[in-house]
Amino acid sequence: MSATLPHTSHFIELEERYGAHNYHPLPVVLEKGQGPFLWDVEGKRYFDFLSAYSAVNQGHCHPRLVKVMAEQSARLTLTSRAFHNNLLGPFEAYATRYFGFDRLLPANSGVEACEAAVKLCRRWGYDIKGIPDGQAIVLFAAGNFWGRTLAAISASTDPSSKNGFGPFMPGFQIIPYNDLDALDRALSNPHVAGFMLEPIQGEAGVVVPDEGYLRGVREKCDRAGVLMIADEVQTGIGRTGKRLACDHEEVRPDILVLGKALSGGMMPVSAVLADDEVMLTIRPGEHGSTFGGNPLACAVALEALKIVREEALDERADILGQRFRQRMSDLQEQVDFISCIRGKGLLNAVVIAGDPEGEVSWNLCLRLAEKGLLAKPTHGHIIRFAPPLVLTDSQMEEACDIMADVFLHFSA
Ligand code: PLP
Repeated sequence: MSATLPHTSHFIELEERYGAHNYHPLPVVLEKGQGPFLWDVEGKRYFDFLSAYSAVNQGHCHPRLVKVMAEQSARLTLTSRAFHNNLLGPFEAYATRYFGFDRLLPANSGVEACEAAVKLCRRWGYDIKGIPDGQAIVLFAAGNFWGRTLAAISASTDPSSKNGFGPFMPGFQIIPYNDLDALDRALSNPHVAGFMLEPIQGEAGVVVPDEGYLRGVREKCDRAGVLMIADEVQTGIGRTGKRLACDHEEVRPDILVLGKALSGGMMPVSAVLADDEVMLTIRPGEHGSTFGGNPLACAVALEALKIVREEALDERADILGQRFRQRMSDLQEQVDFISCIRGKGLLNAVVIAGDPEGEVSWNLCLRLAEKGLLAKPTHGHIIRFAPPLVLTDSQMEEACDIMADVFLHFSA
């Protein structure tokens, strides 16, 4: 495809020559985004069906975010937390009320916030639960993904994340996902401080647990006196058709981790939310970040949350997601290589049958790109479809028409 085009190949060659080779992108070079669309350096327009891994829920370059970003960046961007700024408090007040927690700890990337959540959990385990010092256990679900730091990969079950990077963090225990009996067994250890999980596992391939799993986790954690930590970095902020994916089961975690769409894709902004009993276990000087809580991030995040709320993007995700899965089910009946369609709201996956190496999925994504829609396989044979939540009904139909055209004419 477009790798042979002159501008495209120039930029790809530069990355190949001067960049670390830690990604395998589709051969498109993007230079502009607006709403649900991206444009490449050849001027071709695409539907963005990845949304930067769900960071661009509000659509690319949302005018309100561009305005806030421009105004605030001309006024004040960074003071560090050595001083107060006039935007951190308003952002914290808005976000804690919106998500229903006492307090917020600001950070930058998702992995940083997840790691802060694990630190808070350990500290709570020692100070409040009374676990002997140095012996706290934090549980994670197999298939989880929360980033690439040493702590995050210590919790990972994915060999490509993990192999060759040890030794790993002690005090982490991995249990099967969507398995309440396994959780019961793990919780019999009184040194367990918390269980961190994604309500839907995004990177694992949009793995949706059984109805009742999150409620079961909540009940079991309550009974065992263990913190439930929801990593909603990918699923939160409207993506799955509700404010949070935990809302589908009316479950409130003890610690909530947000990132990605918290800034609508403008810059890295993440946060940990919890109540006093947990959050106040960390005292001045015990945790921090130079950029966390900076005024630019706070201004952008405040606006990003208001957009989701005022434009009711969670409801849009719900309606559009139902339509998307319907169109994909229709398609499944007409081709023999779709084994499963799953997801909630606008976090969906199409699983390709008989494609263990992911070659068919990759070629499908190349064909989709040629026809003007960008998506990418995760774990080889699973294609994730997660467009910005601002698509109109007719744009969704147009995007599904592109998929139908590609899938119906595809021969592996
Ligand atoms: N948690 C989840 C569920 C994620 O999907 C990701 C990234 O994909 C992260 C955490 C890490 O976020 P970041 O890449 O911003 O560090």
